[in-house]
Amino acid sequence: MPAVIEVHNLHKSYGDTVAVDDVSLTVQEGEIFGILGPNGAGKTTTVECVEGLRRPDRGEISVLGLDPQRDRAELTQQLGVQLQDGELPGRLKVGEALTLYGSFYRTPADPRALMETLGLADKSSTRCGKLSGGQRQRLSIALALIGNPRVAVLDELTTGLDPQARRDTWQLIEDVRARGVTILLVTHFMEEAERLCDRIALIDMGRTVVVDTPAGLTERVQTEQRIHFRPSVPFDDRLLTGLPEVTGVVHRGDVVVVTGNDNALNAVTSVLARNNIVARQLRVEQAGLEDAFVALTGRRPENERHASRNRPGRN
Ligand code: ADP
Repeated sequence: MPAVIEVHNLHKSYGDTVAVDDVSLTVQEGEIFGILGPNGAGKTTTVECVEGLRRPDRGEISVLGLDPQRDRAELTQQLGVQLQDGELPGRLKVGEALTLYGSFYRTPADPRALMETLGLADKSSTRCGKLSGGQRQRLSIALALIGNPRVAVLDELTTGLDPQARRDTWQLIEDVRARGVTILLVTHFMEEAERLCDRIALIDMGRTVVVDTPAGLTERVQTEQRIHFRPSVPFDDRLLTGLPEVTGVVHRGDVVVVTGNDNALNAVTSVLARNNIVARQLRVEQAGLEDAFVALTGRRPENERHASRNRPGRN
């Protein structure tokens, strides 16, 4: 598969602040590629350099074979960029906004068809300022796609959305990819990255820590299983602590939480069955992307960031 985005040793400072120290990544055609990292890691600066909105201090960037600085006009035709909240005039109507933005492109998509796809068909005459959070988000995705781009850059796709709107948006992004659009997705939501991305670049303190699939990232961290259940009868903990697969047993009210290695579930359920103890509401927690994130960056991911981002002047 050919690479559509190549970033090599990108470096960008704002005065004394090193926003991007050394970032390298390659995005293949047809991928949903995630850029994941803590707040301030340099994710937005990286994608703004990819979009040609900021001039790197050092490093090379190629997008669809174009140089984002030198070939900015041509790149704009081929790259869809999601507008940030607040960047659209509130009085403009949805249909007008799509027609206006479409007029900037050589081969725009049909605004009606796009509104249909994005569930905005009945909002054509609604002013942008009157849309709900979820509708505004869908409009910003529609605007990223109005130029029929080959590559779309989506930054904080579902920030500020409720869980249902977030899931709907994920489905939408999968549909967009199915139509052949390569997607570069900036996110700090673990669930979003895990669900959508084929590969993820984990960025921390302006550097690429690792590039891997979500499953590959999870496998990198030494992990334990956590088994939760409510025993049907009280039992002596030594029944479980004596098992070589088990590393710990704690009680939280009437719930028992057992930690252990990959084979702990088998060992624990066998012992319980032999002793006629029923494990009610049995639940197993496996390590996920969040554990990998914490292990690789030493930080906990934030849960939510403000929907409206304050973007200082560019370049
Ligand atoms: P992220 O998207 O991962 O949150 P950013 O790329 O927005 O990270 O920011 C990286 C670092 O650069 C942060 O320390 C941020 O405060 C700083 N920064 C971003 N934009 C500017 C700017 N225009 N002027 C000065 N510092 C900036």
